[in-house]
Amino acid sequence: MLPEFELLMPRTLPEALEMLAGRAPDGMPIAGGTNVIPDLRGGRYRPACLVNVAGLPELSGIRQEDGMLVIGGGVTVAEVLEDPLVARYAPVLREAARSLASPLVRNRATVAGNLANASPAADMAPPLLVLDAEVELASREGTRRVPLKDFFLGVRRTVRQPHELITAIRVPLPPATARARFFKVALRKADAIAVVNGAVRVDLGDSGFCQTARIALGAVAPTPIRAYEAERALEGHPLTPETIAQAARLAAEATRTIDDIRGSAAYRRHVTEVLVRRALEGLWSRE
Ligand SMILES: Cc1cc2nc3c(=O)[nH]c(=O)nc-3n(C[C@H](O)[C@H](O)[C@H](O)COP(=O)(O)OP(=O)(O)OC[C@H]3O[C@@H](n4cnc5c(N)ncnc54)[C@H](O)[C@@H]3O)c2cc1C
Repeated sequence: MLPEFELLMPRTLPEALEMLAGRAPDGMPIAGGTNVIPDLRGGRYRPACLVNVAGLPELSGIRQEDGMLVIGGGVTVAEVLEDPLVARYAPVLREAARSLASPLVRNRATVAGNLANASPAADMAPPLLVLDAEVELASREGTRRVPLKDFFLGVRRTVRQPHELITAIRVPLPPATARARFFKVALRKADAIAVVNGAVRVDLGDSGFCQTARIALGAVAPTPIRAYEAERALEGHPLTPETIAQAARLAAEATRTIDDIRGSAAYRRHVTEVLVRRALEGLWSRE
């Protein structure tokens, strides 16, 4: 059963920020509700007040602005799947969106909610990490931007303050020479939380040497993580079977896996190495 709570329905962003500031720390944003409602039913938390941010006009839409792809804080995963700018500049995000839950959930679930919920297995996190995304946070006092790599603090903990809203996720437009892939292993092929997920991005430039490498992993640590050592093993080097194997080994070493109902720590670690290697080989073979 749902516990009792007050539901506030702001019509604009300033109204929502005012409401959150007035109720902090007991007020909680709700967007699609696909995490909040099951969590309320399960007793994970009991906020006195929910502030509905779904449908706020200021949080809608995906646009290109100043060399950035800007994904509004109210954009749903289904909208990401349909968007031509995402298809053009961030197909890796589209791959991840396709793997998240089911069409029914994707119609409600927002990208911002997926990040703010801070599940270690959040499917939107690895692609946005390899794209060097920033999270735009707004409060009554103003706006700040936080690199996504610094956003997560722990399981369901982020740097977001209770009176702040994610108003946008900003992604620098990647160079045309960059390639990226998403990967996910789950207990079913669809509508399942990841046992391991992740993304890789490599920019080979024109030199054939790896100029930028990004490797992000989910469900293998308390937060989605970047595998920095593995990235360094690629940067400045050509993408060869040897450098790929080394990066994949280092990515597995970056994990802090645990046993849970979805898989053992050892399996997660092993599968991380395999998936990173395959994802990097996939980029390479497309050349
Ligand atoms: C059946 C089912 C299957 C699922 N499968 C997957 C899956 O495969 N992969 C996956 O990653 N997730 C999955 N999920 C989880 C969920 O759908 C996603 O995390 C979703 O993206 C959350 O978005 P939401 O808009 O529903 O968030 P909500 O439930 O509304 O909110 C989630 C959290 O984000 C906060 N929040 C929401 N919007 C904002 C904002 N603009 N600013 C600040 N804080 C905000 C809320 O306060 C809350 O803490 C599944 C859920 C269900 C019910």
